[in-house]
Amino acid sequence: MIAARLYGSVYLAVHLRGQAGYPFRPLAAIERDRDRRVRAMVAYAYRLVPYYRETMDRLGLRPADFRTAADLARLPILERDQLQRDPEYFVSTAQPLDRYLRLRSGGSTGAPRTIYHDVRALLQNRAHAERESPIIARFVGRRWGYRMASVGSPLSSGQEIGRFLGARSFTPPSLRIERQALSLFDPPEENVRRINVLRPDILHSYGSYLEVLFGYLHASGESFHRPKLITYTSDGMSDSVRRLIEQEFHIPVLSTYQAIEALRIAFECEQHLGLHLNVDLYPLRIVDENGRDRPLGESGDIVISNLVNRATVLLNYRLGDVATLRADRCPCGRSLPLLSFPEGRSDDLIQLPGGGVMHPQAIRIIFTHEPQVWQYQVMQETATRFRIAIVASPSCDRAQTSVRVREGFIRTFGSEIQVEIEFVDSIPRTRGGKVRPVLSLCQQSALSGQDHG
Ligand SMILES: [Zn+2]
Repeated sequence: MIAARLYGSVYLAVHLRGQAGYPFRPLAAIERDRDRRVRAMVAYAYRLVPYYRETMDRLGLRPADFRTAADLARLPILERDQLQRDPEYFVSTAQPLDRYLRLRSGGSTGAPRTIYHDVRALLQNRAHAERESPIIARFVGRRWGYRMASVGSPLSSGQEIGRFLGARSFTPPSLRIERQALSLFDPPEENVRRINVLRPDILHSYGSYLEVLFGYLHASGESFHRPKLITYTSDGMSDSVRRLIEQEFHIPVLSTYQAIEALRIAFECEQHLGLHLNVDLYPLRIVDENGRDRPLGESGDIVISNLVNRATVLLNYRLGDVATLRADRCPCGRSLPLLSFPEGRSDDLIQLPGGGVMHPQAIRIIFTHEPQVWQYQVMQETATRFRIAIVASPSCDRAQTSVRVREGFIRTFGSEIQVEIEFVDSIPRTRGGKVRPVLSLCQQSALSGQDHG
């Protein structure tokens, strides 16, 4: 085990070299790195991943047909339900499954997925975080040794990755951060109290939870330790709440874009104009519903290729988010192209019988361990009544699944609630083509109806 940890640390150190300055390299050099990774990954996938071997043989494609990232569009667009039906079909046979980290997502999209990650990919991801550290240092005043309070869930993939890598590497001092974990299921007043005691330099959470927290602070006027920086993963924060945090609380805000399928897609810089894409690692296309490329500057579905992960290999995969590739360069000088902030990942908050609210992640977690559930939608009709629609695999034991889901709701929201579960063939989509997984008909704004727009 010590040998494995030493190996992991050396591997990490090698990959850390040059990362902090990487976003400023000339675009042509970045694209050369990207295309080299495309060739290597396609050859690997053809050799070791059943789906790619069979698909490329069927289409008469060979690895040599893939020279640049543009060639990835020669593969059919891989849809999320294909991955849900048969996750192992997309996993490399290079190692047995139990050597990979298996991550499950309850999904802000309402469609749970299983993705395997290999150790080297996770170590590389940690190295790639260095691309963001000069930006953070600018706000916090130092590169390491700062305190960060994270409001999340104990079951989050970030925590799982931390435990998995902790057993396989030593964290170099330059990456050491004093982390404090808070739970997003605790009421905002409780977390405000803890933050006032911990006095973190950075506060990190889901965008949607920060809406709850700052909505509470704004409404209550309670005193609050102001962190130097707020970071969030882009599961949706409205412009009005962002402006509230920046202008009323005077705290700068940075977001990153990540998914369980691709752990470090893009990050925001100090110019706040959008997200810088790690295109050498996760080349990205914007397409319409038929899979045709959208013109630059127009919004569409994000299709991504992961050139880092060699466990579940995803090439030309429709991620389920909507955004726009921007044509302009960022004045910060980074060459990595800009993506608009992705649209529409936000769910409604759940109203509690006592009058409080709970983050929709509480519901996502209930579905995280239900591999037979392909898609769900939860409609809160009153504070105590939920109606749930489920699209399940043909092999799903519906009676058992209903029992587990109902128990999960009662555990989370109390025994006085009523839960009605219905198995359906499909779930209606919104105008933008997305499923809203959590809808509350008794929704109140996180800002108690006050408009800051
Ligand atoms: Zn920039």
